[in-house]
Amino acid sequence: MTTYLWNPPPVPSLAVRGKDERYPIHRLFFVGRNYHAHAVEMGRPVDKTVEVPFYFTKSPQTLLPSGQTIAYPPGTRNFHYEMELVVAIGKAGFRVSEADAHTLIYGYAAGLDMTRRDLQLVARDKGRPWDLGKDVEHSSVCSEIVPMPHVVIDSGDIALSVNGQVKQHSNVNKLIWNIRELIADLSQYYHLQAGDLIYTGTPEGVGPVVAGDHLSGHVANIAEVSLHIAAAE
Ligand code: MN
Repeated sequence: MTTYLWNPPPVPSLAVRGKDERYPIHRLFFVGRNYHAHAVEMGRPVDKTVEVPFYFTKSPQTLLPSGQTIAYPPGTRNFHYEMELVVAIGKAGFRVSEADAHTLIYGYAAGLDMTRRDLQLVARDKGRPWDLGKDVEHSSVCSEIVPMPHVVIDSGDIALSVNGQVKQHSNVNKLIWNIRELIADLSQYYHLQAGDLIYTGTPEGVGPVVAGDHLSGHVANIAEVSLHIAAAE
């Protein structure tokens, strides 16, 4: 039996709708700029004919189940919400074709890619890594996983409200790179595995939160996600 110097941290995991077993997290992938209107608001329009998708990752330890309260994080004055559809991978795949991409899908979730926007933009503009902006503790908020094996979602309302006021409202049919394209492309670089989540990008309307805010989002026919922001530590 393996012994450790101290108790290893628990495996990050999410509840699965209708099941007692939890979904154990392996990796967290995020797609950058995957809705045209958001790419434009970030000052970086996307031309799909000449560009390919890009990704960043966050540590699995940043995962936070929906419905919790976090302190406004350190090191930022511009902490932003990004409402996203999340794909939950349920089977290993490497160099998967778009035609076969659906076979890797276990289900879906609604997620928030919380971001230190000020630090992300400094990093972006100086050509530095995005980690301080993106790999924020408790910043990968996710609903329960909804089992939808082999189902490819190609449309559906996606929206986020802050304190009851709608801030983001779009449709996942506006994804620049769709679910099949993302799985096929990401699998060119990684051996995708069960437990990998893919946050598929946010629509337009991203903005800052302050202490006391309540965020509530949904992806139609999938799930809802929420987060409370408390005062900084
Ligand atoms: Mn994002």
